[in-house]
Amino acid sequence: MDGIDITRAPGTEAAATVSRLHTAFATGLTRPVAWRRAQLRGLRSLLTDHAPELEEALRADLGKSPTEAFTTELGFTVNEIDHTLAHLNAWLRPRRTRVPLALAPARARLVREPLGTVLIISPWNYPVQLALAPLVGALAAGNCAVVKPSELAPATSAALARLLPLHLDPQAVAVVEGGVPETTALLEQRFDHIFYTGNGTVGRIVMTAAARHLTPLTLELGGKSPAVVEPGADLATAARRIVWGKFMNAGQTCVAPDYVLAVGETATALEPHLASAVREMYGDDPAAGPDYGRIVSTRHFDRLVAFLKDGRTVVGGDHDRDSRYIAPTVLADVDPEAPVMKEEIFGPVLPVVAVPDLDAAISFITERDKPLALYAFTASAAGKRRLTAETSSGALAFGVPNAHLTVSGLPFGGVGESGFGRYHGEHSIDTFSHTKAVLDKPLFPDLLRLAYPPFTAWKERL
Ligand code: NAD
Repeated sequence: MDGIDITRAPGTEAAATVSRLHTAFATGLTRPVAWRRAQLRGLRSLLTDHAPELEEALRADLGKSPTEAFTTELGFTVNEIDHTLAHLNAWLRPRRTRVPLALAPARARLVREPLGTVLIISPWNYPVQLALAPLVGALAAGNCAVVKPSELAPATSAALARLLPLHLDPQAVAVVEGGVPETTALLEQRFDHIFYTGNGTVGRIVMTAAARHLTPLTLELGGKSPAVVEPGADLATAARRIVWGKFMNAGQTCVAPDYVLAVGETATALEPHLASAVREMYGDDPAAGPDYGRIVSTRHFDRLVAFLKDGRTVVGGDHDRDSRYIAPTVLADVDPEAPVMKEEIFGPVLPVVAVPDLDAAISFITERDKPLALYAFTASAAGKRRLTAETSSGALAFGVPNAHLTVSGLPFGGVGESGFGRYHGEHSIDTFSHTKAVLDKPLFPDLLRLAYPPFTAWKERL
């Protein structure tokens, strides 16, 4: 194949790939806006021309239904591209800012410039979206990029490695497939930005590697995102939306509601609504339907099955190791100290934890790591105000989980243990650019001479 490197051997191959991209960047290849737009159009045609192939890969890796693959991965990324194409010229325009009177005459501007060569390391759960949406920002900002898809979604990784060379400039974009050895070899190279999506343990490894070269980085991590339900909320709708957000991709979604914090009597009142929402969406036997996904690996399957004993089963509980199937499961009467409440679940198990009131819900949240998202279902404006003011999370959404990602103007990213940095839309341009301060002061008239030494008495009075 001519074009983009598909490198499997670590070490020298990684060094050669990165060095080639640094050289391409230095030629100025990626700077013209026309080149950037052409790459975005190329990425768009990759997603539209090869939709069946990508959907098939997602089915093979995760049992994803084509509809879900379209809405959460392909269509999502096409929207991100369209939004970027529509606004790119405006985002790249230098912005003026005022200069202090003492410096007049002069002009000051903020100029966004590309960083250079960036590394994008992506995970397996949304293996198209989480590789390509950061790439949209990296290319739109005028960078070269190495994309490292997850080895745990091998069919999608292979599809991206095959298709990206057909649609993007091979001088500026490389795909490196592989797992730990290949990623480790890449991390030894000097990049101008590293964008990592995945778990916090590997996030720490990536950050340590970045520190060696003083490379700025974005860490898009996960965590336990709570869904608070208050009395007075429409429980049937709240339950449907929580079930929709939780069991999408079989619960393997970084922003999925991890657990329900049920305030007061809602703990008991929610149970039948959650059970009937699961049956409405997935039928009595979700394993038989086409809409429900599978667990990515037996390691994760075993980890998740161990959680099933941590509460009373309201719905679900069935599982089959051979097909890595775990039914959408709701657990009630869950002890906050149970193992299922100690780590991010990242699978189709939804514990319901009861708290007496909103004060207790807020304490529960603030005593734990800052989540990637906090969801709340409440009819109370005061409740909304308190949750906004008294808790911290990457995002806060009232009335709907997961959907904030589709609002292009909203930054997507974590805080504290859920990561740092942000992207989507213009926030991606910020992430993958350096905003350069440019000051331009004419040499005539030289009013600055008032600031030059010697500091005679009359100058000091100025
Ligand atoms: P993963 O296992 O696919 O790992 C992510 C990437 O890290 C892969 O490309 C992998 O090759 C690489 N990697 C793994 N071990 C490594 C090592 N020792 N050294 C260097 N690189 C290594 O995915 P994961 O981490 O299981 O993903 C799930 C986690 O990601 C969850 O915690 C989830 O919440 C989080 N997540 C966050 C977001 C977000 O946008 N904030 C999105 C999706 C997933």
